[in-house]
Amino acid sequence: MTSMDGVPDPTAGAGSPPATAPATHLDGGLVRRWIAELDQRLRAAEARLTELDAAIGDADHGTNMTRGARAAMAALAEHDEDTAAARLVAAVGHSLSRSVGGASGPLYGTWFNALGRSLPPELPATAMELATALGAALDAVQQLGAAELGDKTMVDALAPAARQAREVAGSGADLAGMLRIAAGAAEDGAVATIPLRARRGRASYLGARSEGHQDPGATSAAIVLDALRDAADA
Ligand code: ADP
Ligand code: MG
Repeated sequence: MTSMDGVPDPTAGAGSPPATAPATHLDGGLVRRWIAELDQRLRAAEARLTELDAAIGDADHGTNMTRGARAAMAALAEHDEDTAAARLVAAVGHSLSRSVGGASGPLYGTWFNALGRSLPPELPATAMELATALGAALDAVQQLGAAELGDKTMVDALAPAARQAREVAGSGADLAGMLRIAAGAAEDGAVATIPLRARRGRASYLGARSEGHQDPGATSAAIVLDALRDAADA
C-alpha cells in the first residue's frame, strides 16, 4: 500500500533487520557504550547531583562522579578492542576506587569490581548472568557500607534494580528488556528516598533534617543503570 501525504509506510522494510537491534548479551562493546553514555549523562547531571549533595551532604557528589567517569573512560582506552566485558567492568571499578574520594568512590569501585568479577571471564554475559552479577555487586556494596534498604543511600536504587533483574531474567526476559525493568526500579527507588531519614553516610548526621531530599548516591546509581539500559537499547 502506498502511503499518503509522505507518511512513511510502517510496514516498509518489514523482514529486514533494523539498523541496530537491542543487545542480547553484555559484551566488551556494550561495556564501552555504557561507560561512554554514563560519562555524558553524569556531565549533564553534575550540577543536579551537587545540588542534591549540598542539601544533605557536602556538595561534592557531582564532581566526584564526573571525575570517576573520566577516569573510567581513560581506563577503558588502555584496554585492547577485544577485551572481555568482565575485565573491562573490573577495570572501571579499579579506576573509580583510585580516582574518586568520599564515600561514593570506594562504594562504586566495589560495585563495578564485584560486577566484573561475577561476570563470565571470557564470554559475553546473558541476561541471567548479568542479573546474578548485579546481585553480587549489591552484596559487595552492602558488605563495605553496611547500608540496608531504606537507609537513604545508593542501595535504595541498586537493590530494587538487582531484585527486579533477577525476577524478570528468571521469567525469560532478554537482556535489553531486563535492563528496562531494572533501570525503572532504580529510578523509582531513588525517588522513594525523598521522605526517608538517612541512616548511613554523611547525610545521617542531619537526622530528621535529611528528610524531604532525594539521596544523591541513589540518584547517580539510577543514572548508572539507565546508561546501561540506554546502551543496550541502541
Ligand atoms: P561523601 O558523602 O563522602 O561526600 P559523595 O557525596 O560522593 O561522598 O557520595 C554520597 C553518597 O554516597 C550518598 O548520597 C549515599 O548514597 C552514598 N553513601 C554514603 N555512605 C554510604 C554507605 N555506607 N552505603 C551505601 N551508600 C552510601
Ligand atoms: Mg558528598
